[in-house]
Amino acid sequence: MKNLIVLLTIVLTITSCATEGKIEDIVVIGGGLMGSSTAWELSKYGNDVLLIEQQNAVYTFGSSFGEARISRSLGPNEDIFSYLQQTSVSETKNLIDYLNKGEKHELHSMEDIYTTSPVTYIYSKSQLKEVEALLDGQTDRYEYASNVLEAEEKFGMKIPDTTMVIREFKDYSGTLNPKVLIQKLHKAIRKAGNRINYNQKVTGLKKVDGIYKIEITNTQTGSSKTVLSKKVVAAAGPYNGTLVKEIAPYLTNLITPKRLFLSFIKINSAKYNALSIAQKEKLKASYPVAYLNSEIFYSMIEKFDEDDIPLLKTGAHFLRTDISDLDEVWKLELTTEEIQWSKENTLNYLTKLDLPIAFEDLEYERGYSCVYSLTQSEVPYVSNALDSDLEIDAGLIIVGGMSGIGAKGALAYGLFAADLVLNKKNNSYMYQKAMSALGSERMMKDIQNIDN
Ligand SMILES: Cc1cc2nc3c(=O)[nH]c(=O)nc-3n(C[C@H](O)[C@H](O)[C@H](O)COP(=O)(O)OP(=O)(O)OC[C@H]3O[C@@H](n4cnc5c(N)ncnc54)[C@H](O)[C@@H]3O)c2cc1C
Repeated sequence: MKNLIVLLTIVLTITSCATEGKIEDIVVIGGGLMGSSTAWELSKYGNDVLLIEQQNAVYTFGSSFGEARISRSLGPNEDIFSYLQQTSVSETKNLIDYLNKGEKHELHSMEDIYTTSPVTYIYSKSQLKEVEALLDGQTDRYEYASNVLEAEEKFGMKIPDTTMVIREFKDYSGTLNPKVLIQKLHKAIRKAGNRINYNQKVTGLKKVDGIYKIEITNTQTGSSKTVLSKKVVAAAGPYNGTLVKEIAPYLTNLITPKRLFLSFIKINSAKYNALSIAQKEKLKASYPVAYLNSEIFYSMIEKFDEDDIPLLKTGAHFLRTDISDLDEVWKLELTTEEIQWSKENTLNYLTKLDLPIAFEDLEYERGYSCVYSLTQSEVPYVSNALDSDLEIDAGLIIVGGMSGIGAKGALAYGLFAADLVLNKKNNSYMYQKAMSALGSERMMKDIQNIDN
């Protein structure tokens, strides 16, 4: 009996510490757009990486959930967000080339991910200075309607005389599909010989003697194990604060998750089919749109249904609510007011497009709750973590606070994070400018300001 107990103890010790013998080079936690992009960029550089994701390979929630995000480039001179979007587009081209390498036929294309389409911006006349700064020396192609007449002439739009319209035209501006992008990133990570472990939830992260101890629970079997790693990238989206709470407890003060809603609105089939071909084309060319009013209404075509009717995804950048339980928030239904708001704002835009659609022609298909991770300035972090003496922790990189802008720059954030992991330098002016906006110097200042 005594021998049996000793044997059992040995077996249990071996299984619970199954991976403790091995020390990983780099573990990326979170397989949304940010973690997947970072793991890919590290793979591209030839590193050994393990990506850990708590969900199954088919995601049902997360800030990257869905099939459309606005991808736009237009910004004022030396704008870091234009730079990030353009860098992400060129990194996505590298990804596609890598996936096609060695294949007899080109199996992957940029068009699987991006739908190039004009991006429409509606501004209020009170934002004239902002618009002038945006267009001054602008190198991206655009059309600008500064008044009612020009809006009618250039875009066939009927706008109030308090507004102005800009339309951006550029390859890979329009929308991008995060679901497809994540799938391709995962394919490329594997093609490079790296591993992705799904259904693995990180339940603890500690640093012991310079090595990260990552406690993991299998979400299907409930079994747990510990993985050791020399370096860690925290890319758990809105869960980042909880994830790093033992090493970087300040992060919960720097990044706040907030709930947003997204509605899918459809024009009823009889009405949509009665539109002329020109009207349907006009509708297609007028999405995505961002109305830069106080709520920032935005809308895009998520996809076309089996009858070729567009599903209009609609939301508002500033209509945010507090979250009481992050695990539950994804399942929250939309309120009657949110659905009403979505229909009214969709109708308002379709009326500006001079399309013969009435409120009763709009059908609410479905909706879901989603989460922004918000920093105070709404600018994300791609930064080394800082220890209690505010010294840089070279082994822990945080990619978070992505708000509503992360997707269009996803691979650029991934590239920056990979460069931090590997301590790679890039002295180009825009890279440095973006890094100082996203990186550890800013994080340090933000930590010092927490109690002020
Ligand atoms: C409503 C909405 C609209 C948006 N619209 C746009 C847009 O139009 N254009 C644009 O550019 N951007 C947009 N964004 C922003 C963009 O989608 C996000 O910035 C981006 O998807 C964030 O990706 P992420 O990887 O940081 O987070 P997530 O996608 O949330 O990824 C984090 C991952 O980590 C996993 N995870 C969490 N905790 C753990 C753990 N403990 N163990 C293991 N895994 C864990 C999660 O399951 C998840 O898959 C929008 C965002 C939202 C919410």
